[in-house]
Amino acid sequence: NRVPLIAGNWKMNLDHLQAIAFVQKLAWSLADAKHASADAEVAVFPPFTDLRSVQTLVAADSLPIAYGAQDLSAHDSGAYTGEVSGAFLAQLDCAYVIIGHSERRTLHGETDADVNAKVLAAQRHGLVPVLCVGETAEDLEQHGASAVPVAQLRAALEGVDAAKEIVVAYEPVWAIGSGQAATPEQAEQVAAALRGVLAELLGDDAAARTRILYGGSVKAANIAAFMREPNVDGALVGGASLDIDEFSAIVRFKK
Ligand code: 13P
Repeated sequence: NRVPLIAGNWKMNLDHLQAIAFVQKLAWSLADAKHASADAEVAVFPPFTDLRSVQTLVAADSLPIAYGAQDLSAHDSGAYTGEVSGAFLAQLDCAYVIIGHSERRTLHGETDADVNAKVLAAQRHGLVPVLCVGETAEDLEQHGASAVPVAQLRAALEGVDAAKEIVVAYEPVWAIGSGQAATPEQAEQVAAALRGVLAELLGDDAAARTRILYGGSVKAANIAAFMREPNVDGALVGGASLDIDEFSAIVRFKK
């Protein structure tokens, strides 16, 4: 009975005017009675500079769209030029924050310890972390699919309070932006292994509650197959989340 979550990670795309236009179109699409209803929770992850505009729009029209940031600082305040505190994101009513995306890990050198500190920071401020884990093509060849994501999850959960919500996103690095999605069976296998780690570290209840998303070249044509897998509870969508028709179709997946 986990409510599916379809999350759009915009990455460094859409300025604040484009964000307003996109969220408005998404709201119209969700409300359009010509289409089937969306059975999933829908969330968007715009750049930091868009968040205030998105907040205003969502609040003014009570839109059924959640939102969050793509990163946060491990620190609460202070001399950290260029960083953004979870406290500020909470003030903008962000529900979620993406942490440990592979682009942060590889392009910005984020370590497992950094990711863990950010997960704890998010939870201190009442934000739900969307914790990303995933193996590279080389990892896959050398260690199989599950080893690296499992190790990343273990490290990220150090000191985490089992009572607080967390979302885990399994994103194989080789599947991101490549057009080469994992197979639903591959995603299920890793998601099941990740749920096992959640049970071991946070307990059975937390493991049963926690949503595990698949990410990596998700589109309207393949979402349903992922959603039929018992341990896949949604998707973290990159490129296809920027196309209103494609994203509207993804959030309306029917198993
Ligand atoms: P794509 O959907 O573009 O492959 O990106 C996935 C991703 O990185 C979402 O965080």
